[in-house]
Amino acid sequence: MTICFKGTACKYEIEAVMKLFIPVETFEFLYEETVSEGDHALISADNSGDKTVLSCEVFFEGKHCEKSREIATGEDTELPLCQLLYKCMNEITGIVPEWGCITGIRPVKKVNALLDRGFSKAEIFADIKEKYYTSDNKLELAYLTAVTQRDALKTLKNNSYSLYIAIPFCPSRCSYCSFVSHSIETPNAKKLIPQYVDKLCEELELTAKIADETGLFLDTVYIGGGTPTSLSAEQIEKIMKTVKKFFDISKIREYTVEAGRCDTITPEKLSVIKENGADRISINPQTMNADVLKAIGRRHSPEAVVKAFEQARAAGFDNINMDTIAGLPTDTPESFKSTIEQLISLDPEEITVHTLTLKRAANLFRDDQLVSDENIAEMVDFSAKRLTEAGYLPYYLYRQKNTLKNLENVGYAKAGKEGLYNIYIMEEAQTIIACGASASTKLFDPQTGKIERIFNYKYPYEYISRFDTMCGKKAEIKRFFQEELL
Ligand code: SF4
Repeated sequence: MTICFKGTACKYEIEAVMKLFIPVETFEFLYEETVSEGDHALISADNSGDKTVLSCEVFFEGKHCEKSREIATGEDTELPLCQLLYKCMNEITGIVPEWGCITGIRPVKKVNALLDRGFSKAEIFADIKEKYYTSDNKLELAYLTAVTQRDALKTLKNNSYSLYIAIPFCPSRCSYCSFVSHSIETPNAKKLIPQYVDKLCEELELTAKIADETGLFLDTVYIGGGTPTSLSAEQIEKIMKTVKKFFDISKIREYTVEAGRCDTITPEKLSVIKENGADRISINPQTMNADVLKAIGRRHSPEAVVKAFEQARAAGFDNINMDTIAGLPTDTPESFKSTIEQLISLDPEEITVHTLTLKRAANLFRDDQLVSDENIAEMVDFSAKRLTEAGYLPYYLYRQKNTLKNLENVGYAKAGKEGLYNIYIMEEAQTIIACGASASTKLFDPQTGKIERIFNYKYPYEYISRFDTMCGKKAEIKRFFQEELL
């Protein structure tokens, strides 16, 4: 589809609204020129008169819709143009996206901003509905999430940071995976792991020094991936002992290790993780349906999930998260509901419900294996209702591009067990210093809200071979905070 702009160029926002209705479409953008054939949209802002006239005209699959409105010259044009496009696409396709025209990945941030300004629940709903046409169902979810995470945000100290450590290896690749992660079964990846662990420990030592010199103090630690437990017990121990040696973990409020796949979990690894300071782990079944596990390329059974969970309890973990995904190919609402019920009966402290990313699924599976829009909405709504009934409240929420039906990922937790790191990263409320391949550091100034990012190399081989260049970029941490304090 071709999108033509005249007098405006808000490509990113307009494309995001289009994708709410036609997610797999690709777009071509033209500026100050138009086309008159094929599927196309004309987006324009004319401020030649007293007022600015905004208009949006869409030709799609033989249908046509045109809308326009006037705003005061100098007013922001992006949101009104997005609203016009949303209305046109809604009329043409008949689709009513539940989140309305909210396109960013952090809808809860909008609720938090209004709570900070003292708005009541009714005022928040009215404000967001007027601007974004969000459904009551999703507003309730976003509002409850904001209220649940409020304490964690209030207790955040200004010069604190979280440490993220990336382990981009997995026992094998899941078919739907869109992360940078390497199967340890491939000889190249296997060979790289010892070197990777050594370099990671070097980076951790350097990072601790920089954070100390910058005057930051460590608040939470998160070892994620990939699957950190695809490393051996000795390798995990080496990394965690390095953290213990160079960082002050005596006052941290949370230390998570994402164990992830249960086929990598052993009592030995669990006790190494526990002994070295972690108090929270994640065991991620994604589904408890054996056939769906097979379809997505996971080689473990649902029984292995239960066994790993029991081993984690026996090792003393009293804060366990379990991830599941709504919309996995070949899954059904009944089987998804059964997954949720089985997880509730295991009684973990947290259950996270993701929505499958559309692009990967569409490339890998036949149409008849994909879950329909209606079924995915049923799964997501069921998880919200059932988990809340079972005493789990939504505490962090984010959306990804290209998820089925543009739905969300939500972490549900029992009271007092909310994952702090998850809240801080999603609400962009704290500096996250990251180590390891594909990790990105996010520097945050709580006074001004300014954010800067530093990216590590993506793949383990470049992380190792260009290690010194990459570490040089960490000096930006000091520069950022020195400049911000001036
Ligand atoms: S366990 Fe997670 S990171 Fe690893 S391959 Fe599967 S989806 Fe990707």
